[in-house]
Amino acid sequence: KERNGHEPEFLQAVEEVAETVIPYIIENDIYYGKNILLRMVEPERVITFRVCWVDDQGEIRVNRGYRIQMNSAIGPYKGGLRFHPTVNMSILKFLAFEQVFKNSLTTLPMGGGKGGSDFDPKGKSDNEIMRFCHAFMSELFRHIGHNTDVPAGDIGVGAREIGFLFGMYKKISNGFTGVLTGKGMSWGGSLIRPEATGYGTVYFAQKMLENKGDNFEGKNVVISGSGNVAQYAAEKVIQLGGKVLTLSDSSGYIYDAEGINIEKLAFVMQLKNEKRARISEYLEAYPNAEFIKGKTPWDIKCDIALPCATQNELNEEDANILLNNGCICVSEGANMPSTKDAITAFHKAKILFAPGKASNAGGVATSGLEMTQNSLRFNWTREEVDLKLKDIMSNIHDACIEYGKDEDGYIDYVKGANIAGFVKVADAMLAQGIV
Ligand code: NDP
Repeated sequence: KERNGHEPEFLQAVEEVAETVIPYIIENDIYYGKNILLRMVEPERVITFRVCWVDDQGEIRVNRGYRIQMNSAIGPYKGGLRFHPTVNMSILKFLAFEQVFKNSLTTLPMGGGKGGSDFDPKGKSDNEIMRFCHAFMSELFRHIGHNTDVPAGDIGVGAREIGFLFGMYKKISNGFTGVLTGKGMSWGGSLIRPEATGYGTVYFAQKMLENKGDNFEGKNVVISGSGNVAQYAAEKVIQLGGKVLTLSDSSGYIYDAEGINIEKLAFVMQLKNEKRARISEYLEAYPNAEFIKGKTPWDIKCDIALPCATQNELNEEDANILLNNGCICVSEGANMPSTKDAITAFHKAKILFAPGKASNAGGVATSGLEMTQNSLRFNWTREEVDLKLKDIMSNIHDACIEYGKDEDGYIDYVKGANIAGFVKVADAMLAQGIV
């Protein structure tokens, strides 16, 4: 706390892990007295750098670039790049810390990292995005590599940005390697990678429901966000027979009481991915829906909630509204979308609650599968990748049960994910000595 007191999001993420992992360390001699968690909270390396680029008016712009190389005990650093004006050290350190546990949970050999910039992609032309990405990579390239650090996308970094970043990396390194994931299919990408985080979040919720003898059929589902994760979470919910009532962006949310079906979702995908427009424009095509400005969708009555936008978007008050409305399951698509008090409320009510580091691990898991395919110089089919993704989500679910089952039979998925993620990384760190 003394060293990181000015980094609230990072402290929040560490506290959540410490609360469940410290009691486990105390009970287990192999970890006790080794300061293992203290070592894990200190990044192995932090890089910040200047990113200069020229906008369409010819003006020189300056942004700050970052890469947090958090932990490489079980594999090369792996984690996304976020381009958003709110990006700072605290947010990236929280994301990198979460990533270490999440990557461990996938059982694939990936360490944890995260990076990005305070660059705001909103309202920028394709050429400006390209110039920024090229400038960003002209420094980042010297710190990454397919055996060192393999970045991917996150908020504000999708297929377009990964393309520009990869192009510059390839040019200056003079090599075609799997240094980034989320690549296009014709140049080293993996089928199902775009869908993986959203699908995985729903697969995880499905496993939690199944464990209670329930499923998605006929359930009312509230989703926040309308980006990559939200879009594919919605798609999978619809495929499993659920009814998607909401989607949102930073300007507010849309509520469609008739349900957002596949046709309406295709419209949203075009709106967000091609036109890069606001979610409120949904009403121009579907005027029966409502747009609620400046609000999050948690006051809409639902059975299942999938927060898929950003950190701390669901607070204690929202949690209580969801609970009063009969919500039985929350599966986090975003990273740390629920505040600590919101999670406490879910646990008190003993509903199904999955923390992002477990339920959204499908994205990075499929990135891991993309890395494997790149190394093999081979492409698996859609069905093969989807099956592996389902399998990984199911194994994460089982690991959470193994470590998270309370005496009364309630599954504390937060505790389960934290301890299961911790064990693998801690064992590797202990085996490798004090480095
Ligand atoms: P996108 O950039 O594709 O979409 C982000 C969505 O969240 C947009 O609808 C955006 O609205 C909204 N949003 C972003 N910031 C805010 C904010 N401060 N307040 C309200 N809404 C906001 O990102 P992704 O879908 O990729 O990521 C969403 C979440 O999922 C993040 O927490 C990310 O870390 C996490 N995640 C993503 C993975 C992936 O594979 N992409 C993997 C694992 C986790 P607007 O357009 O108005 O900004």
